[in-house]
Amino acid sequence: MRTHESTRKLARRIELGTATIRSATVSFRSGRWFVSFSVKIDRDDPPPQQPDSAVGVDLGIKSLAVLSTGEVVPNPRRLELAQRELCRLQRQASRRPDKRTKQKPSKRWRRTQARIAKLHAEIANARRDGLHKLSTRLVAEHGAVVLEDLNVRAMMSNRRLARHVAGVGMGELRRQVEYTAAWRGVHTHVASRWYPSSKTCSGCGAVKTKLRLSERVYQCEHCGMVLDRDLNAARNLTALVERDTSSASCVVRLNEPAGNPRKPTPGGNGYRHGKAHAGQRQRSNAPTR
Ligand SMILES: [Zn+2]
Repeated sequence: MRTHESTRKLARRIELGTATIRSATVSFRSGRWFVSFSVKIDRDDPPPQQPDSAVGVDLGIKSLAVLSTGEVVPNPRRLELAQRELCRLQRQASRRPDKRTKQKPSKRWRRTQARIAKLHAEIANARRDGLHKLSTRLVAEHGAVVLEDLNVRAMMSNRRLARHVAGVGMGELRRQVEYTAAWRGVHTHVASRWYPSSKTCSGCGAVKTKLRLSERVYQCEHCGMVLDRDLNAARNLTALVERDTSSASCVVRLNEPAGNPRKPTPGGNGYRHGKAHAGQRQRSNAPTR
């Protein structure tokens, strides 16, 4: 059967005898067919290239992520295009058919609705794909990855923040980093949700009492440091690990299970879902707006 995404790697592993397919699930969602394999794999991933380095990740709004190394990881191109198209269509379809007059929805209106549903799925796929590439690269390069434990549910109830938080998928990145890190012996550090990574100055350690989301540049009143907001936060996260290795008391909690109640992911030679499309069924309720 022909697939949109390459199954060559999986096929090679099966030929070599290092993988066995245990089950396959076929599903149909928003106009596309998906097949998800549950595969048992013997893994021997090499250790990270720089085992002594730690990287802090701050998920951005305009970009996908900002790393403590100063690198800005852009959103996937496909994601940006789909978002722009979605905005346009939602404006176009903003006039709903009037229910009181029993006006029938026009053919054109219904067609737009179908296209909108498809775009939502496309956006979710593109974002997940971008996060997969990011998490794979992070654990291949660094010995420790520091993420934030955001209280996503509480933030979702905040209507103004909801779009941003739902959009950037912190929980998804954390899930991915946690299981791929285990294969390479990389440490995952999750900073306490009360740690003010954005409000702290990465230069002198001063903490601001207030920092608006609109303030994209951090300006320290104490030492005068001026730095991109997300880069400042990412550097603070990395500093947590560096402090962690020198002293026992620290706000970092090591390898704490993720907030979502899901089955523990067995590390090393365990089961995992095969393709990038896989496993979306249980995540289909993930926020895409
Ligand atoms: Zn400062």
